[in-house]
Amino acid sequence: MPEGDTVWNTARVLHRALAGTRLTGSDFRVPTLATTDLSGWTVRESASRGKHLLLRLTAPPQAAPTTAWTLHSHLRMDGAWRAYAPGERWTGRPAHLIRVVLRSPEAVAVGYHLHELALLPTADEERLLGHLGPDLLGDDWDPAEAARRLAAAPEVTIGEALLDQRNLAGVGNLYKCELLFLRGLSPWTPVGAVPDLAGTVTLAQRLLAANRGRWTQSTTGSLRRGQTSYVYGRRAQPCRRCGTAIAKEELGERVTYWCPTCQPPPAPTPAAG
Ligand SMILES: [Zn+2]
Repeated sequence: MPEGDTVWNTARVLHRALAGTRLTGSDFRVPTLATTDLSGWTVRESASRGKHLLLRLTAPPQAAPTTAWTLHSHLRMDGAWRAYAPGERWTGRPAHLIRVVLRSPEAVAVGYHLHELALLPTADEERLLGHLGPDLLGDDWDPAEAARRLAAAPEVTIGEALLDQRNLAGVGNLYKCELLFLRGLSPWTPVGAVPDLAGTVTLAQRLLAANRGRWTQSTTGSLRRGQTSYVYGRRAQPCRRCGTAIAKEELGERVTYWCPTCQPPPAPTPAAG
């Protein structure tokens, strides 16, 4: 599941493969960029912001009106980038999912099933990403600001608020479910009834940070198959703490997993009663 840590890892893979190199070819397989040719462009760096990937490029003089450009992509649920050595077989995904191929003398980067693939002036990144809350894995991570943004809509469920990238950028469904289990919070708890928002977002940051640099996402400390999560993907299996069957239900646009015993339903508010 591509969440902030996966995107961070992907940005690092692309950075190692391409940063500082001049592209010898590109092949875009999306209509909006079909005629774009990045041959001769230099890759400055690869970075992530929340779940957005930013490959920053320098155009050769005369190729474009400005020189600093960003190739933006989003992995959503199913996208991926892979880096290969020249001549190596591409094993990442089926070929029909390829959206872009970038070639340099030392590496070939292949983007599969990417979303929001766009080439924009680097100066316009803020227009595209300025709505995002503090990036859990960014240099500018600010837990107080993330808690402040969450608290601004106290009636929203914490399960939905954590996925809203305008509050904090990088939490996806897996970390949302795991974080709420670890905090003993029902996903249906209104944000205004969460006792320690700052502690919650701080733990979110620690969970993502712990998974930087590896592709197996674990919140339990175990990397063994079937033991990497407390509740996510474990419907009807016994809670690792209390043995209660893990529940799964829709919440907003996503499914959520929780332990009905460790994460009891929120007390009704006076207004609701
Ligand atoms: Zn439990």
